[in-house]
Amino acid sequence: MSNLSNDLSTLGQAAANFIASKHRMLIGGEREFADSGETLPVYDPSSGEEIGRVPSAGASDVDRAVIAARAAFERDDWANLTPVKRERLMLKLADLLEINAQEFSELESVNSGRGLVNARLFDVDLSVDYLRYMAGWATKIHGKTVGISAPYMPDSNFFAYTTREPIGVVAAITPWNVPLGQAIWKLSPVLATGCTVVLKPAEQTPLTALRFADLIEEAGIPKGVINIITGYGYSAGAAMVEHPDIDKISFTGSTEIGKGIGVVAAQNFKKCTLELGGKSPVIVLEDADLQSAIPGAAWAIFGNHGQNCCAGSRLFVHHTIYEKVLEGVADIAKNLKVGPGLDPETEMGPLVSKKQQKRVMSYINSALAQGATIVAGGEAIEGPGSYVQPTVISDVDDSMTVCQEEIFGPVLVVMPFSDVDEVVKRANATKYGLGASLWTKNISQVHRLLPKLKAGITWVNTHNVLDLAVPFGGVKDSGVGAELSEEAINHHTQIKSTIIQI
Ligand code: ADP
Repeated sequence: MSNLSNDLSTLGQAAANFIASKHRMLIGGEREFADSGETLPVYDPSSGEEIGRVPSAGASDVDRAVIAARAAFERDDWANLTPVKRERLMLKLADLLEINAQEFSELESVNSGRGLVNARLFDVDLSVDYLRYMAGWATKIHGKTVGISAPYMPDSNFFAYTTREPIGVVAAITPWNVPLGQAIWKLSPVLATGCTVVLKPAEQTPLTALRFADLIEEAGIPKGVINIITGYGYSAGAAMVEHPDIDKISFTGSTEIGKGIGVVAAQNFKKCTLELGGKSPVIVLEDADLQSAIPGAAWAIFGNHGQNCCAGSRLFVHHTIYEKVLEGVADIAKNLKVGPGLDPETEMGPLVSKKQQKRVMSYINSALAQGATIVAGGEAIEGPGSYVQPTVISDVDDSMTVCQEEIFGPVLVVMPFSDVDEVVKRANATKYGLGASLWTKNISQVHRLLPKLKAGITWVNTHNVLDLAVPFGGVKDSGVGAELSEEAINHHTQIKSTIIQI
């Protein structure tokens, strides 16, 4: 064990007990192993040590879960539950998560590599809030009454209205960067609207979803409304996407996999929400307040170790302040305390896996090979953990791989610009369009430039701020549809029109 490995003896009893338990999926209200009996390993990325095994679901397990979800969707104990009762169940679930917050934070930190505080804030506390926020929506889903004319039937009268009906069985597939948070983003609108779901967390980080299954039972959510299966993307995930009895696919992950899922969904006319990759620009104008822009730009990329789909991975700085900002951000990178997630001193933990470490390093090496300069970091930390130093790269041009592709790690490229209209064009010149931030005190520039930025979410003098009540989704190769907010309700309901002759 190196000093970069978690000391698992510091775990609370509840988290330690859960890690040591035999993990089973949740299908139709029962705790189940995979039909094949196969399991997959779960690691602590700070040490590379296997900390457990979870079922590795195959097509037959997916089928069982979809059958259970379909049955629950049609069963009276869910289909006829009043909105206020759905709301109460969600509030109960939120309370249970809140009560067990420390255990969930520890499980998430150990399994994903992220710091305990980070896991607490973004996987647990925000999930509690989101469950409560979405619980409120359960009682506020409504259609409209519509005055109609039907001029070809002049002697008739009509009454017409629209209703919003739950879309049906949802296949929810989530990534490893904010594991429980992403799962709750998917489960909450399902519960609020009266849909049912089969959820598959990423194979790297299944623990908190499986622990959450206990709370689902405890809260009294009817059997089969939420089914949780664990398994690899190419087997369990693909079987979910291809299952004929799924009505909607809700996917968060890489653009490459999302594109394939979008094709399958389109071929079968399935509804689809895809929240995919990004290469989000951070643009610092000449007049920006550097006291906040420098740490803001550093946080934009190093928050969650760069494993954020809207991470500010390209920093454009006006040439008059370029050196100062570059130096400031590089200083922050050099001084970040890298260590295991359970250590309270840690500011940045390991990446999620050795595979991800290798991937991130290959991008850094490609930049070096193309003539870029490493200003901070640039190396993997030797040892069993999957650490990469916070890295700042300069002397790059827009066409380099490192400026075009999503790295999903703590790697920032910094580039000067002289003309604001030109920098907006450069900011837009990747296939992605998720987030973009502008740092300036000039309100006219804000209103002139923001509409030109091709992104699903834009920020001014901040970056990476997401809120339960604000829609989140991308344009271009960053995705389709939106999560959070009323939009999530809209994306889980289908409008039905009714016309009554009276
Ligand atoms: P990453 O490259 O960041 O791991 P992925 O897009 O591969 O992101 O994974 C995100 C989620 O998608 C995970 O839950 C993974 O298991 C799942 N997944 C991967 N491949 C497929 C696939 N072919 N079909 C469905 N889901 C998949």
